[in-house]
Amino acid sequence: MELKLHVHGRGNAWPVPLGETHPFYNRNDCRDLSNAAYSLTASEQGSMRADVLIDAGHGTIQSLISGRNRIPDCICLTHGHMDHTLSVDWVVQSFWRHHEKKRLYPVYATASVYRFMLKSYPHLEKLIEFRELIPGVTRPLEGSNPFNLTAYPVYHGQGAAGSSMLLFETVGKKLLFTGDLLSPLLRNGDYERLMNADLVVADANNRYPWPRTNHWSFAGGPESPMERDSTLRSFIETLSWEDLTAPHELPLQEESFINYFSQLKKEWDLSTQPFTVMEFLRKIDPKLLVPVHYSGAEDSRYHREKILDGAGLRSWIEHTMKSEGLLSEILLPLPGQVIPL
Ligand SMILES: [Zn+2]
Ligand SMILES: [Zn+2]
Repeated sequence: MELKLHVHGRGNAWPVPLGETHPFYNRNDCRDLSNAAYSLTASEQGSMRADVLIDAGHGTIQSLISGRNRIPDCICLTHGHMDHTLSVDWVVQSFWRHHEKKRLYPVYATASVYRFMLKSYPHLEKLIEFRELIPGVTRPLEGSNPFNLTAYPVYHGQGAAGSSMLLFETVGKKLLFTGDLLSPLLRNGDYERLMNADLVVADANNRYPWPRTNHWSFAGGPESPMERDSTLRSFIETLSWEDLTAPHELPLQEESFINYFSQLKKEWDLSTQPFTVMEFLRKIDPKLLVPVHYSGAEDSRYHREKILDGAGLRSWIEHTMKSEGLLSEILLPLPGQVIPL
């Protein structure tokens, strides 16, 4: 089976704000103004067995149409923010019209992410067949799809209900999409399962901590990549278990949710809980790292560190990881890039 990752976009919510420029993103290439989104495809002897869309923000449709120009089998959402959902309507409406307004389109997400998305696009409720993801519970994607999907909860701030990282597994491959996050909410056994993942597509919004963005940073601080700087330390000191779990709406959830979080609570330790990409990499040591969603705005504003261009970010990441003995292969993706897995 041939697996491929198709990169529709690699951008954060607003890669180039109007009236500005950004050293990382080419404002003259509209593909580079797209938000981070991908298709995962599996084909066998030339025929497509699976075509899964993972998040769908600005520019996803343009990339899909100018690429393979077919309707993906389903959409899997990490969370409900606009830069991950703006293209959902176009995909769903294409399917609805293609099937003479008789078939509903499959969307996989946690219940909270789905409710959040419907607040932005209430008309889609009648056009979508919602397939619920429950934290830590693996479900096969339906149809001829060879992937098993598991959602793991993450913390991406109080305003991001139900946010999750998504793990796709198929014969001998583990492919993880972190979505946006400030910290993953994983049990010890989950780290074991993620160990040596073949691919981790990771939120790399900032190089250095500024937790009020609700994104983790790549390193712990400009001084030392594995040490948490004072901004991050004082933020973590104020974080409570209730803060971290409130976006998962625990009182509303059913038993399997409660079981996941009660196990997590038993093992909870803020000193080993990852709050940076580096801390996460040290725990799971993936084979290939694909950093996305880069902004760098807070590095410049609060740490007086440069926003980097593509070559600069790549060599900084490589150098930072190597200095701590982290040896994953690094691939900074381009929009439209197809990566064989
Ligand atoms: Zn985002
Ligand atoms: Zn987000």
